[in-house]
This record gives sequence, C-alpha cells and structure tokens, in this order.
Amino acid sequence: MSGSAAIELPPVETLTERQLRGADCVLCGTRLSNTTAVDLGTRTVDAHGTAVDWFPRTCTGCAP
Ligand SMILES: [Zn+2]
Repeated sequence: MSGSAAIELPPVETLTERQLRGADCVLCGTRLSNTTAVDLGTRTVDAHGTAVDWFPRTCTGCAP
C-alpha cells in the first residue's frame, strides 16, 4: 500500500470548484475556515486527462 488513503474521496469530476480548492468540505460541501478545515494532504488526480494537484480538505465532522 502507498500513501495515507485512509478516507475514500468522491470522484474529482463530481466536485465543485470550491471543493477542489479546499474551500469547501469535499465530503459534505460545508464551507471551511482555517480553524475548521482538516487537511488531507496533496493528491495528484486526473482531471479531464490532465494531472492536477488537488488539496482536499474536510470539515471536522467528516475527518477520518
Ligand atoms: Zn464535511
């Protein structure tokens, strides 16, 4: 096994631009602030055939 994929994230193409930026929780869509966000680490994902860096964050309620 590689990385720390302890949590199953939804497909990138189903997420909003805010979720891709880490502005909203990737799981429930709640608006995040720096005090409530849980950083899941950088991931490289395939978005429409292009590899892009993704910075998924969740709220404390969704955090693993
Ligand atoms: Zn959440």
